[in-house]
Amino acid sequence: MATLTVTGVRKEASADGSHRHIEGVCTADGTHYTRSQVVDSIDAGNIWKTSVGGYEATIRKVTYCPRPRCLATPYIETKADSTKKDNLENLDEC
Ligand SMILES: [Zn+2]
Repeated sequence: MATLTVTGVRKEASADGSHRHIEGVCTADGTHYTRSQVVDSIDAGNIWKTSVGGYEATIRKVTYCPRPRCLATPYIETKADSTKKDNLENLDEC
C-alpha cells in the first residue's frame, strides 16, 4: 500500500468534442497515470490524494465523467463542487 500525491491533471477532448475532461494525472515526481491506472491502484488499496497550493483532497473513483451525456469511464474526482484546488478538475494541466 502506498500514498500517491497528485499535483496536476492531463485533459483530453471528450468523444463528442463538447468539453475537456480528465484523461489522467501527474504525481509530484512528474509521472503520468491514466484514469484507469489510478482506479486500478485505488482498487488495489492505495491512497491517491491531491496536494496543491495548500489544498488537499482524496481522489475517489466514479463511474462516469460528470458532464451530461459523457460516457467516459472510469472517472475520478475529489470535491467536485469546489471552486478551489481541492477539486481535481481545477488543478493545473501537466
Ligand atoms: Zn467528459
